Amino acid sequence: MKKSLKYIVLAVVAVLVISIFAACGSKTPTNNEETTAPDEGTTVAVEESTAPIKQLVMGTNAAFAPYEFVDDNGAFAGIDVEIAQTIAAKLGMELVIKDMEFNSLITAVSEGAVDMVLAGLTVTDERKESVDFSDTYATGIQVIIVKEGADADFDFAGKKVGVQAGTTGDIYITDEVGQENVAQYSNGAQAVQALMNGQVDCVVIDNEPAKNLVAANEGLTILETEYTVEDYAAAFSKENTELRDAFNTALAELKADGTIDAIIEKYIPSES
Ligand code: GLN
Repeated sequence: MKKSLKYIVLAVVAVLVISIFAACGSKTPTNNEETTAPDEGTTVAVEESTAPIKQLVMGTNAAFAPYEFVDDNGAFAGIDVEIAQTIAAKLGMELVIKDMEFNSLITAVSEGAVDMVLAGLTVTDERKESVDFSDTYATGIQVIIVKEGADADFDFAGKKVGVQAGTTGDIYITDEVGQENVAQYSNGAQAVQALMNGQVDCVVIDNEPAKNLVAANEGLTILETEYTVEDYAAAFSKENTELRDAFNTALAELKADGTIDAIIEKYIPSES
């Protein structure tokens, strides 16, 4: 009698243990454990996928059209966004975009908060001390925006200059005219607003965003002078040479097959 009770207890314990294992097993994360057949509305089991798709986290400042901006549907768009999406797809990864202050992007990538930065980011020797750059994929030119009529014989003497904080425009201009003559804003639109309001006399910013800002605000013009010509590239943590190399390989293929040109042409149609 005692013996058979022992067997019953053992059997119950065994059943419990098996069902606990079964329950845990069903919690294993899979992408497609079950799916609903569209025509019948029933649930059918499908083959388990292998590992979940790896994320590729891009840091940017989405206030820099045509390179990165939020479109009318609230989605991220622009040259950098499409290049990153295409490269992520080539690497079999899922692109995730983190929109942050321009000024915190270099720190974010060097500390591993994001995997890479694409932000119309200029390659500079100073930045190279903190991050690794990819091969370049576009050219930027620093230009000067002024109010129409202020363009004759423009020079910086006695002028207050608006810039986006932490940009190359900010760095060069601060060097040239001194901190006290520079007003920093967190994006180009705010700097241009300050120009419209008369708080600054000009804005130094990259040429393509400059064209967009001038088109969106009446009474502004871009000076003929090209202040500096720069290369744009993606930035990676110095620890992550593997990702940088994979990015460069994909980028080279996309340059060779015309994809990069097509993306740039979509957002910056060449005048013909
Ligand atoms: N090209 C400039 C820089 O790298 C500006 C970039 C930006 O404002 N997103 O500093």
